[in-house]
Amino acid sequence: QSKAIQATDTTRTICTYCGVGCNLEVSTSNGEILSIQAPYDAEVNQGHTCLKGRYAFKFYDHPERLNSPMIKRNGEFEKVTWDEVYDYIANKLTGFKEEFGPDSMAGISSSRCTNEENYLMQKFYRAVINTNNIDGCARVCHSPTALGMQRTYGTGAATNSIDDLKDTNCIMVIGANPTDAHPVTGAKLKQFAMKSDNVSIVLDPRRTELARYATHHIALRPGTNVAVLNMMMYYIVSEGLVDETFIENRTEGFEDFKKELLSIDLDHIEQISGVTRDEVRAAAMAYATAPNAMSFHGLGVTEHSQGTFTVMQIADLALMTGNIGRRGVGVNPLRGQNNVQGSADMGVQPHQGAGYLDVTNDEVNKKYNEFYGVEVPKHIGYKIPEMFDAALEGKLKSIWIIGEDVVQTDPNTQKVIKALEATDLVIVQELFMTETAKYADVILPGASFLEKSGTFTNGERRVQAVRQVVEPIPGTKPDGQIIVDIMNRMGYNQPDYTPDGMLEEISQIVPFFAGIKWERLGINGLQWPVAADGTDTKILHTTEFKRGKGKFEFNAWEETVELTEHAKDYPYILTTNRELEHYNCGAMTRRTANEQILQDDYLMIHPNDAKTHLINDGEYVCLESPRGKVDVKARITDEVKQGILSTTFHFPEIMINNITGDVHDSEAMCPEYKVVAVRIRKSKGK
Ligand code: SF4
Repeated sequence: QSKAIQATDTTRTICTYCGVGCNLEVSTSNGEILSIQAPYDAEVNQGHTCLKGRYAFKFYDHPERLNSPMIKRNGEFEKVTWDEVYDYIANKLTGFKEEFGPDSMAGISSSRCTNEENYLMQKFYRAVINTNNIDGCARVCHSPTALGMQRTYGTGAATNSIDDLKDTNCIMVIGANPTDAHPVTGAKLKQFAMKSDNVSIVLDPRRTELARYATHHIALRPGTNVAVLNMMMYYIVSEGLVDETFIENRTEGFEDFKKELLSIDLDHIEQISGVTRDEVRAAAMAYATAPNAMSFHGLGVTEHSQGTFTVMQIADLALMTGNIGRRGVGVNPLRGQNNVQGSADMGVQPHQGAGYLDVTNDEVNKKYNEFYGVEVPKHIGYKIPEMFDAALEGKLKSIWIIGEDVVQTDPNTQKVIKALEATDLVIVQELFMTETAKYADVILPGASFLEKSGTFTNGERRVQAVRQVVEPIPGTKPDGQIIVDIMNRMGYNQPDYTPDGMLEEISQIVPFFAGIKWERLGINGLQWPVAADGTDTKILHTTEFKRGKGKFEFNAWEETVELTEHAKDYPYILTTNRELEHYNCGAMTRRTANEQILQDDYLMIHPNDAKTHLINDGEYVCLESPRGKVDVKARITDEVKQGILSTTFHFPEIMINNITGDVHDSEAMCPEYKVVAVRIRKSKGK
């Protein structure tokens, strides 16, 4: 006989998965979570969530949760007390600092954590260890967005809000599959695309769900974004569709840019991209002639050797057509993790501290020194790939990784493993024994988003309150408190973690957080910059750019070295994608009922390629790259073109990153997950 359970309490918080930042209403009874609902009064999601936000929460009390600090001795993890682990870490790190110097240590913070925790983690490295060796997952996803938009506009964040879809006439979605990766925003984009008067342009090698509804789908070859966007701009300029007044008043560098742009070779671009000039011209005309046009981009833009240049082109397109600084326009990166925007805002980057202030600048350095009460270094620290290189060169003695499974999700898995093995002290702060945690020397059991309070910043710069729903499971602690405890154990006086106390500190050092106070956040949060009186900002760059004028810089297309070096022996191009049911390494979603919906990674392969290699649907394909090989089940589909393959990477049993490579974005060092040279054959399986 079933017993009715009465909900006794509800708490409003924010989803832990993607950068849409949906507001959730969590019902609990006797400290146990019963269900999650989508509240109607939330500006972000207005009564909607996807199946991750609404149903994939049971990981929080899964029996596999790490529930004690552990130290590895003789190859085995031993449970220890918090006091013991804090002493162990403090002694080790102090020893490394004295013997090898502060730059022998590095930290990787987490975009799953709150702003306050990210702020503390970068503060720990800058003020306690005295190094700028701090980085986060943005390095492997949207670091080119931050850098590219900063170069062109001065600010590396979305210019508008998703709600502006009500006021636009045209959307251009580049390298993003939002119906799977950002489902609530994806649904809004799909609804927009389905209305007959609206114009929608999708630039993507795959015929994604959104591409099927789009008025223009440019199915370009992976790795040719820069070439095709130059062609789009070529037609806008050569056909006189630029906004001359906007260019004159608000931008610089256009004449030099135009000269180089008009000399591009259209025949060559058609040849390398696999799309025709007529298709590209039609899309360019549609974007340039729309009264209001918004662009959205994802990792299909950034995870390339020319990722930063592509972001700059998207920003240039908005500049030359005057699509910036009002409702219904702008450049709107679709941020991946729930708080990837916030972690960068808080200074989880080796070149910019809290508030995007340049660590090499004398004035900034003085400001940080005074604020933190210690000497903060002025030289730029290691980016994540440089941390691994330093480890392999014997220069890195310690790394502390919070909530990031670098073994499963960073490229070239075997290299990452060797780097961790070469590091004397690997500290991993996690919910589960992830692939990375297995290589740890010390485990710190952190708390999930349901067990702590703080703020997340979504892809619209919206800082929202994350409110504790249940007590942390026994043996674990909120991540912010763990960092504070270690700071104090190493002699730095940092007050205990409270969201209001931390926001108070952050508002004094991060200029655009000046007016953000815990009690002001309410249900819908505040979009930064927030003035001291609490006034927030829906639209950026309305009268001037952060850098003064918007800057045009021409960049020519270059083939990635992944293909110039390896295409001859590895003739297929593999790209990567996500599935709706799972989230990145799957550590959380694989421990929920979502596991029953999708239980394996799969490879999309065109019917003609499958026929060539005698591969039937559901059979295993061996993918081999210059780094290694993996076996993945085939899904035969014309969603990909002939010669192009696409795979998910949610399951450690497959470990797709065994075959991805070391090519990075030339400017921001974001790995090129989206172009991997491979050869294929039918195989018997794992
Ligand atoms: Fe969470 Fe993103 Fe789904 Fe919203 S769309 S419920 S933020 S995963």
